[in-house]
This record gives sequence, C-alpha cells and structure tokens, in this order.
Amino acid sequence: MRVTMIGTGYVGLVSGACFADFGHDVVCVDKDAEKIRKLEAGEIPIYEPGLEALVAENVKAGRLSFSLDLAASTPNADAVFIAVGTPSRRGDGFADLSYVHKAAEEIAEVMDGYTVVVTKSTVPVGTGTEVEEIIRRVRPDADFSVVSNPEFLREGAAIMDFKKPDRVVVGAEDERAQKVMRELYRPLYLNETPIVFTNRATSELIKYAANAFLATKITFINEMADLCEKVGANVQEVARGIGLDGRIGSKFLHAGPGYGGSCFPKDTLALVRTAQVYDSPTKIVEAVVEINNERKKKMASRVINACGGSLEGKTVAVLGLTFKPNTDDMRDAPSLDIVPALKAAGAKVRAFDPAGMHEAQGLLKDIDYVDGPYKTLEGADAVVIITEWDEFRALDLERVKSMMKTPIMIDLRNIYRPDEMAEVGIAYHSIGRPQKA
Ligand code: NAD
Repeated sequence: MRVTMIGTGYVGLVSGACFADFGHDVVCVDKDAEKIRKLEAGEIPIYEPGLEALVAENVKAGRLSFSLDLAASTPNADAVFIAVGTPSRRGDGFADLSYVHKAAEEIAEVMDGYTVVVTKSTVPVGTGTEVEEIIRRVRPDADFSVVSNPEFLREGAAIMDFKKPDRVVVGAEDERAQKVMRELYRPLYLNETPIVFTNRATSELIKYAANAFLATKITFINEMADLCEKVGANVQEVARGIGLDGRIGSKFLHAGPGYGGSCFPKDTLALVRTAQVYDSPTKIVEAVVEINNERKKKMASRVINACGGSLEGKTVAVLGLTFKPNTDDMRDAPSLDIVPALKAAGAKVRAFDPAGMHEAQGLLKDIDYVDGPYKTLEGADAVVIITEWDEFRALDLERVKSMMKTPIMIDLRNIYRPDEMAEVGIAYHSIGRPQKA
C-alpha cells in the first residue's frame, strides 16, 4: 500500500518507519524544513531507541522517504495519515485542532482517486466529522473516507509498542475504508493482535478514556503514597498487594512526582472540557487533573524540608529532566515545575539528563547543565532524582556521599532502597515509604 504520513514527530516518524517496515511504501511529510533536512541526511530529529536503525534500513530498501511537499507525495496514496500535534489550546484547555484542520485542507487540495484519510493524532469526539466536512468543502468531488486510528505507543518504547501493540483501534464507517485499514495492519493480524473495529466517535473516545484511566491510576497511587507517609505504610508494597489482583493489574502503580509528558496532561484536560460541553462532567478526571497539577508544584517543598527548611544559598543537584526515561521530550515534564520552584526558594541548580539537556536548555534557564550524573554532585547540599533513567539506578553511593557537601537525597521515583541508603549514611527521602525499611 502507498502511505503518506503528515507530521514526522514522535508518532508520525515512528508510525511511518514501522509501516515501511511492514512492507508498505511510505512518504513522511513535514512542514519543518530542518526536520526534513535532517531526515534526508540520515539524522533522527528526536531521541527514540532503535529508530535510527529502523529508518536507515527502510530508506535503504526504498520503502521510506521524506518530503516537504505534500502535493508530490499524496496523489497516489491509498491512505494519508494525519499525525500532527494537538496541544492544549491556550486559556481553555480544549484540544487545539488548528494543525489537524489545516492538514485536512491541504490533503483535500491534492488528493486524487479514492483515498482513506486517517486521523492518528489524538482528537476529540467529532473531529473525524469535521475533517470530512473540510475535505468535502474544499473538494466536493473527492472520493474519500475519514477513519479514526488513535495511537497508543509510548515514547521510549515506541517501535515495540507500534509493532506489538495490545490492540489496534480503528473507527471506520464504511467497508471500503475498513478493507484498506485491514491491509495496512495485516502483519499484526498474523500476530493475532486484537483489532477493534468500531465507529469513529467511539474510536476517538477510546483514546481519551484510555489516557484518562491511566492518569487516574497514577494519581490514585500517588494519593495512597501520601497516606502511607502519614501512617507509616509502604506504597510499593501497597501497589504490589493490590496489583496482584487481576482486576486491578500491577502496571501504572508507581508513585512519583505526578504525571507529565506530551499526552496525559493535555488529554485529561481536553476530555474534561469535551465532557463539560456535552453537559456530562467527568468529575473523577477533573479531580485527577487538579490533584496532579498541585502535586507537581508541591514536590519542591520535599526538597526544602529535607534540607532543613531553607534552600537559600544552597546547591541542589538534579538528576533527570525529561518527563520519563528514554526520551528527549520535555513537554509538561515535572522538572518544569520543580526546578523553577527550587530556584525561587534560593537554590543554585546543577542538572544532568542523558538525552533531554538540549530541549531543557530552552525551557529551564539559569541553571548549570553538566556532563554526567557525578558532575552535578560536587559540593552539593542535596540531590533530587526527578527522572528514573537507568544510569541513575546504580550510582556508586560511597562516591555520591563523598562528593556532596551534605549527603541528602530526595528520590522522587523510588529507585533506591531506604536500607541501602541508611547503610551508606545518606539521608534518604523517597515517596510513600518509611525513611528506613
Ligand atoms: P510532534 O509535535 O512531535 O509532531 C508533530 C509534527 O507535525 C511536527 O513535526 C510538525 O512540524 C508537523 N506538522 C504540523 N502541521 C503539519 C502540516 N500541516 N503538514 C506537515 N507537517 C505538519 O507531535 P507528536 O508527539 O508526534 O504527537 C502527534 C499526535 O499524536 C498528537 O495528537 C498526540 O497527542 C498523539 N500521540 C502522541 C504520543 C506521544 O507519545 N508523543 C502517543 C500517542 C498519541
């Protein structure tokens, strides 16, 4: 099949490369000339494990190419995917659909012959109908179907998630479009991946419901962690104790600083707004949004308290800035709340992140970016672990202690054990666990 992918971001580039790897002919189109220049030169504009090799292989095989020119890429396509951003609209939290609408107009101008237009971006219920209306308005004669096919991949494990998903969701209203979608995902059929065919509105809502549920699970365990701290319980054992119940499941029960990233914050808010418009409020999700926002803001006070109530003139080492490990994505990362609050409390901040420093430098000013975890520690008054990158999980604790002015660690991801810290003599503060095991 011939596929055009509009948007070569975290979703478009991975999906495009994976479809090419399935054997389809794929052109990835973006408006960002710098991204296309890099891709054509064999460089990957984002950090995603395994992507560079996958792109290179498929370019070499002649199945994957990149272009700035939608008109040249689209006329023969069987399917055109819209994988552009849908950020929160400034001021009201609704999904900003301007990129999706624009892409729909642009597709309409150049499409030729029967084309399936697939919305892969996360979009509110009703967007498929809007895309259909836009195309119909621009090209009343066009022969096309609009399909919803939300993406569930996770940054950092995106290729695996795309190729071995728990399920694929397709919202298609007609048989012709279903046939094209079935053909596109044929390699997954052979793997017996469940493909959920449904109508467009249901498919659009499935994506928001999934993200809202996961955000709720995280927020639930975060509140349990706070309660654990008050009553002397251990949240990791609570999570294990409840997660072994098959009805609950053990995933997404890690207490931490609050969720961030390019999806959960904006998608939970967009769902809340959509539900309000339809006068069917999602009060649980409203509470999740509020609790999580407050939580991220409160994390700095844990550092202040661990340092005896003041950070004035102190140096805080920060390990990890991205919203999670194995990505360079800084969108809505907890560090964007925590680091400015540390600085506002008088601290000097020295930070390291394995992949996110370039992105972070544009967002977090006036902090010292250093090259490696140990370099943050020299003479520091405290160290905070914000993101659980693997390379922070096995630090030489004796070295950590000897390098710091005062050995205080605030571990917002619970990657160490309180007893090992006690043994080394580092004052250790984590989330929802007794100070010493
Ligand atoms: P992104 O910001 O990384 O990439 C979007 C790309 O689209 C950019 O490169 C931009 O230049 C390009 N673009 C915008 N308008 C264009 C146009 N008219 N023509 C050509 N290119 C255009 O976004 P992302 O993280 O890949 O997310 C895309 C969508 O997928 C969003 O709706 C998001 O919610 C959803 N999603 C994201 C993830 C994730 O982990 N990032 C997971 C699942 C779903």
